[in-house]
Amino acid sequence: MSSNNSDVPENANEECVGPQSEMAGKASSCAGCPNQSLCSSGATQGEDPAIEQIQQAMSIVKHKLLILSGKGGVGKSTFSTQLTLALGLSEKVLQRVRTAASSSNNSSNSNNTNNHHHMNNNISDDDDEDDAFEDESPTQVGILDIDLCGPSVPRMFGLEGQQLHQSNLGWSPAYYQDNVAVISIGFMLPNLDDPVIWRGPKKNGLIKQFLRDVYWGDYLDYLVIDTPPGTSDEHITVVQYLKNAGLDGAVIITTPQDVSCIDVRREISFCKKVGIPILGLVENMSGFVCPKCSHESFIFRPTSGGGEKLAKDTDIPFLGKIPLDPQVMHACETGKSILKEYPSSPASRALLEIVDKLKQPNM
Ligand code: ADP
Repeated sequence: MSSNNSDVPENANEECVGPQSEMAGKASSCAGCPNQSLCSSGATQGEDPAIEQIQQAMSIVKHKLLILSGKGGVGKSTFSTQLTLALGLSEKVLQRVRTAASSSNNSSNSNNTNNHHHMNNNISDDDDEDDAFEDESPTQVGILDIDLCGPSVPRMFGLEGQQLHQSNLGWSPAYYQDNVAVISIGFMLPNLDDPVIWRGPKKNGLIKQFLRDVYWGDYLDYLVIDTPPGTSDEHITVVQYLKNAGLDGAVIITTPQDVSCIDVRREISFCKKVGIPILGLVENMSGFVCPKCSHESFIFRPTSGGGEKLAKDTDIPFLGKIPLDPQVMHACETGKSILKEYPSSPASRALLEIVDKLKQPNM
C-alpha cells in the first residue's frame, strides 16, 4: 500500500508537515521550501476532506476505543490484543470464564497453594461450539494497530506473514476468526525485524488510509485502536481524523512504578487538552503470579500508590490491576485469549472485570 500524500507538494522539503497542518509555513522544516509563503498565508488550510470521509467510514463502528500508554513496554499491545479477543468471545464462553474465575477466587481465598490445578482448566479450542460463531449475531470486533514503530499485533494474534488485500470495497483486514478482524502496519512489512522509518506526512497519510479505506464489513461493535507510546504526531492525527467520528474514549495503560506514572500524567493531560474522554486507567504487571501456586506477590510495590492513586488524583476511573503472569505472556506468544486458555488465572479475573466495565453502556 503506498501512502497517499497527494496533499504534500512534489517540491516540498523532506520533513514537510503537510500544507493543511496548523504549522504549515511556520515549522522549522519549512525554511527554504518554495511553498513556504503560500502555506504561511493560511490558504492551504481548508478542512481536510478526509475528516468527513473518515466520519462516513467509521459510521459502521459502534464503539471506538483508543489504547494509550505513557511509554513502551508496559503491555499496551498485550492489553489491546487481549481486550479485542475478550470482546469477541460469546456470552456463553464469558459466562463459563466468570464461573471459573469466581470458583478460583474462592479457592485462592481459602487455600493459596492448592489452586494451581484450576489454572489448566482451559475452555479449549477443540470445543468449537464454544466459539462466538454459534451466537446468532456474534460481537464483531476489529483491532487497528497504528503503532507504526513497533507493530507487534500480528504476532500477538498469531497472524504473522499475512498480507492485506485490496478490493473495490477497500483494504481487507486479516481475520483471526470470523468475528475478529485485524489491521496492522506489520502486515505491510516484508520483514518484521526491519526498522520502520516513516516521516511525518507519510505516517499521517497511512493513518488516514487505515481509518478511511479499510473495509471492516457492514458493521463492527468495537474497534480497538492500538497507538504508539507517548503523545506523538500519530495521536494528534488520529484525534483530528476521528474528531467527528465519535470516539468513545481512551484507556490508558501503566505499570505501578512511579516513572511510568509520571509519563502517564502527560498522557492524561494530552487527552484532557484535545478533548478525548478517558474511560479509565489500567495498571498492568501489578504483582507477580507464581505459575506453581498462583500466589500473587508484589515485586514493584509502588511508593506513590501506583495507578489507583494516580487515577484518584487525576479524577479518572480506575479500571483494574492485571498481574504479571507468565501465562499471559504465553497466551500472547501463541495468539490465544487468556480468558479462554486460563479462565481461572488471576490475570483473567482482572481482565474480565475490566472488559465488563468497558462494556457498560455509560462507558
Ligand atoms: P507495549 O505495547 O506497551 O510496548 P507489550 O504489550 O509489547 O508492551 O508487552 C511487552 C512484553 O511484556 C511482552 O512480551 C508481553 O508478553 C509482556 N507482558 C505484558 N503484560 C504482561 C503481563 N500482565 N504478564 C506477563 N507478561 C506481560
